[in-house]
Amino acid sequence: MSSTDDRAARPRTVLITGAASGIGAAVAEAFAREGARLALADRDAERLAALRDRLTGAAAVTTHTVDVADAGQVAAAVEEVVRWHGGVDVLVNSAGILTEVPLVEMDPTVWDETIAVDLRGVFLSCRYALPHMIEGGGGRIINIASQLGQKGGEGLTHYSAAKAGVIGFTKALAREAAPHHVLVNAIAPGPVETPLVDGLSADWKRAKQAELPLGRFGRPEEIAPTVLLLASDPGGNLYVGQTLGPNSGDVML
Ligand code: NAD
Repeated sequence: MSSTDDRAARPRTVLITGAASGIGAAVAEAFAREGARLALADRDAERLAALRDRLTGAAAVTTHTVDVADAGQVAAAVEEVVRWHGGVDVLVNSAGILTEVPLVEMDPTVWDETIAVDLRGVFLSCRYALPHMIEGGGGRIINIASQLGQKGGEGLTHYSAAKAGVIGFTKALAREAAPHHVLVNAIAPGPVETPLVDGLSADWKRAKQAELPLGRFGRPEEIAPTVLLLASDPGGNLYVGQTLGPNSGDVML
């Protein structure tokens, strides 16, 4: 039996960055319920371990403490995942940071850090996981962008630029990777109740809430099903290189 046949016979391996919290954790819980093999990556080792302990249903779970902005750490973590699980079938890039700072007050290090985590981090995990997906005969990549990457948000020029970058990156990589049967998409959620938005000002949150069709922020478990759809076969085939916008009031297809 070839290695591709071996891979087809066992549960898919799903590598999730930013898995310790919020949307990444909800995606991990949903894939666990499907019986997937999970490789959970985050810089927060303690919360990763707590997630691992509460997951039910996964065929196997490994945790990987990694800073997604660091090329050496990401390369090493992907190698560890492949050694342990035998490959990567699905990559979900959910690691992210967010601060609210008007441009005229923004220290350039804040800009650099946001671009490093929110954009370079997506590039790095794709850069090191994609060769293994190609070698394994295919895969799915789902990047968590943001509505702010389409519309922009005040006090969030750095974050909006990074997320717009993720959307452009996703569309370009989708073209490059599809011939290798690796399908790449992004989703662009509106505001979701997670620790990420805790740092936003009350004024920002109030104004945002008033724009939302449901009058409330989304919840991480409401985002996870879209990620699972895009990872599904054949459901995900419809959407190569697209950006879906759950909870944002937009359909971005
Ligand atoms: P969260 O803060 O709950 O989770 C983000 C996770 O990323 C955390 O566990 C954190 O430790 C990890 N992380 C941060 N920097 C990292 C680094 N350098 N290396 C490794 N891990 C790192 O936030 P969330 O809301 O679940 O965000 C998940 C993704 O969804 C992010 O990319 C975010 O930009 C995006 N998003 C969030 C919202 C929202 O309103 N919450 C809306 C649209 C998009």
